[in-house]
Amino acid sequence: MIVVITKNLGADVPDHLNKLVGSQGVLENVVQRGDGRFVVSFQGSDSLIESLSNSPLVDRVHSIKGPWGLIARDGKETSVVELGPNLQFGGSQFPVIAGPCSVENDTILGQIAESIKESGAAGLRGGAFKPRTSPYAFQGLGQPGLEMLARASRSFSLPVITEVMGPDEVEGVAAQADMLQIGSRNIQNFRLLEAVGRVNTPVLLKRGMMSTVDEFLGAAEYIYMRGNENVVLCERGIRSFEPRMRNTLDLGAVALLKQLTHLPVIVDPSHGTGLSELVTPMSRAAVAVGADGLMLEVHPRPELAKTDGRQTLNFAEFAALMQELEPLALAMGRTLRDSKAASASA
Ligand code: PEP
Ligand code: MN
Repeated sequence: MIVVITKNLGADVPDHLNKLVGSQGVLENVVQRGDGRFVVSFQGSDSLIESLSNSPLVDRVHSIKGPWGLIARDGKETSVVELGPNLQFGGSQFPVIAGPCSVENDTILGQIAESIKESGAAGLRGGAFKPRTSPYAFQGLGQPGLEMLARASRSFSLPVITEVMGPDEVEGVAAQADMLQIGSRNIQNFRLLEAVGRVNTPVLLKRGMMSTVDEFLGAAEYIYMRGNENVVLCERGIRSFEPRMRNTLDLGAVALLKQLTHLPVIVDPSHGTGLSELVTPMSRAAVAVGADGLMLEVHPRPELAKTDGRQTLNFAEFAALMQELEPLALAMGRTLRDSKAASASA
């Protein structure tokens, strides 16, 4: 497969390109990116690449193997996805993102942001829009919740990661958040993947609870090929036959993904196990397997949390976890706290 990214020259560029390719290749698909460029794919041999590369219509040409060729490792270094000066995924930092499952109110969110920051977290998570199995259950605070996240982010200088559930909500959530989370239940919501692919805000793509590794990578490619190259993958457990844990945290898939793709891969041990007492051991394992960070749930009183209390750490447990992880991260050549952030808070 040859993938051509055109220059931003207007709507008839893909047609011109198709004529240029002529009988040397077969047009497969045309997609417009957020920046106005087109991604045009052809079935054809590598001999086409030279004439395409020399065309004034063309920005870049890639020869890709398989359905997720742009994000394939292919000897590349891990890409660095940056949310701010103190939060980078895929570099030497091992960022830990923490926060409540759902945003509840300003007071609790502020307490959480203050405490996790003190313990060394690099980012604040929290759901304002919650995908719930029961339509009667708490669905999140919506827009007011987003505003609470933005306020906590400003007060504590922590980038915010929050879920977006529908394509029409992408712009509104991107205006308040530093990273858009695509939840497990939406991994094949292709319109949503396309919509987050057209903005520049970094995306955290969670593995579907029933997705294969290839389906996970295919979903990431949907985002990446539309121009948003700031994609981070998150392993959050898959459904298995084991009823004692909410999910089975697939750390083998993390090792495999690190080989297959250049995108950073982080681990969510909260949803991955469903049990707070397993979050610390699985976090240790995530560092050791070579993950590029963690995302986990923290609340001052997990037993009172509106959602997912059973898998949520309290402040003392989170602080202890961070202390435990520090030497492990170092042993893996990573720093848990960004050095600039650590010296600023010292
Ligand atoms: C979450 O992180 O709040 C969440 C809903 O996770 P998942 O989509 O992995 O279930
Ligand atoms: Mn949750």
